[in-house]
Amino acid sequence: KGKRAFIAGVADDNGYGWAIAKSLAAAGAEILVGTWVPALNIFESSLRRGKFDESRVLPDGSLMEIAKVYPLDAVFDNPDDVPEDIKTNKRYAGSSNWTVQEAAESVRKDFGSIDILVHSLANGPEVSKPLLETSRKGYLAALSASSYSYVSLLKHFVPIMNPGGSSISLTYIASERIIPGYGGGMSSAKAALESDTRVLAFEAGRKHKIRVNTISAGPLRSRAAKAIGFIDMMIDYSLENAPLQKELSAEEVGNTAAFLASPLASAITGAVIYVDNGLNAMGVGV
Ligand code: NAD
Repeated sequence: KGKRAFIAGVADDNGYGWAIAKSLAAAGAEILVGTWVPALNIFESSLRRGKFDESRVLPDGSLMEIAKVYPLDAVFDNPDDVPEDIKTNKRYAGSSNWTVQEAAESVRKDFGSIDILVHSLANGPEVSKPLLETSRKGYLAALSASSYSYVSLLKHFVPIMNPGGSSISLTYIASERIIPGYGGGMSSAKAALESDTRVLAFEAGRKHKIRVNTISAGPLRSRAAKAIGFIDMMIDYSLENAPLQKELSAEEVGNTAAFLASPLASAITGAVIYVDNGLNAMGVGV
């Protein structure tokens, strides 16, 4: 029987989430996505109007189907967490059941269970500020949106994940090496995400037979990356210095996710898998 995947963090066809959805769909999985509430309308209308049709084409020529798009804001676990200004915000008021707990409950009601959970989201309001200039509020917001959001997703989805299931997130090497420009506590958030990958692999593995891995991806010109402001420089740096001197495609990350979610990776858990043309292995640029 085919597998079912829930991919959190898809709001256009440029990011890693979209590419992962495509690779999983190409491998036969049914695709559900979670889309950030403020981006939901434009994403759904673009989908409907056929704006993504070219990027929906799978290797066999068919178009990727998204069985359902769920509104999601991964910084809120349940309705009690949502402050008044968000509740009454017009971008939020038009949607419902978008906290993590409610989204998991909606998926359970609609589909019963899933096999694959993907976290492909991050947000750091002060990402363009150096860590030394980051406020407590900005730092904690980065951790909330980019790290705890994963703990919360797994916590709420694990009860509806079939044993043997697999969970994947996306990280960046700024967690372990100095990458000037990746500020606002985002480097700290990725370090937390990688450490949590190991602890969650233990807990979800022992209790639910679920594998938990993270992909440390090289630079991609996604919407989120363009907002950081240094993505072209990072792509050029990788082209010049990585062992493999080619631009990284989102599909290469998608294919790794499909591998990690498959039985081919049945003994891999708690791992940080680099998909970066080997740049992580270099000690000095040449
Ligand atoms: P992207 O813009 O496609 O994805 C980020 C998504 O997060 C967006 O869809 C956005 O709407 C969503 N989002 C933000 N806050 C949210 C919230 N509170 N609740 C729900 N969704 C929220 O960009 P991307 O670069 O593909 O990012 C996906 C993942 O890949 C992120 O974890 C990012 O850190 C990681 N990554 C990206 C790069 C890169 O160079 N682009 C490199 C390594 C890792």
